[in-house]
Amino acid sequence: MTYKSFYYPNNKESIWKKFLEITKREGTTGSYKILQLIEEYVKQHDPGNPQQRLDVISNIGKPYMASTCQDCGRSPVFEGLKKGVWLKYCGLHWDNRQFSVYRKINKK
Ligand SMILES: [Zn+2]
Repeated sequence: MTYKSFYYPNNKESIWKKFLEITKREGTTGSYKILQLIEEYVKQHDPGNPQQRLDVISNIGKPYMASTCQDCGRSPVFEGLKKGVWLKYCGLHWDNRQFSVYRKINKK
């Protein structure tokens, strides 16, 4: 475990004290609650929605869209070739029996 620190404005000290009171009342700690909030934030925002610059869009001819599962819109895990097009599926909707050529999608 490593120690992290952050800046907290003096004029919000009363909110900080309330925060610690509430976490104590709930049987946890401020550190643990902050960790939970950070984890939830990362889960919701990763991999993010990077701003697209107009020069990049005009270079590739269209806005970049993150690939999604054909069936549900989740992040794809596998893709299979059908009639010359790679179709992407999440782990839940993937069925390799419908493709003769397929591959696992490498995540960053
Ligand atoms: Zn799916």
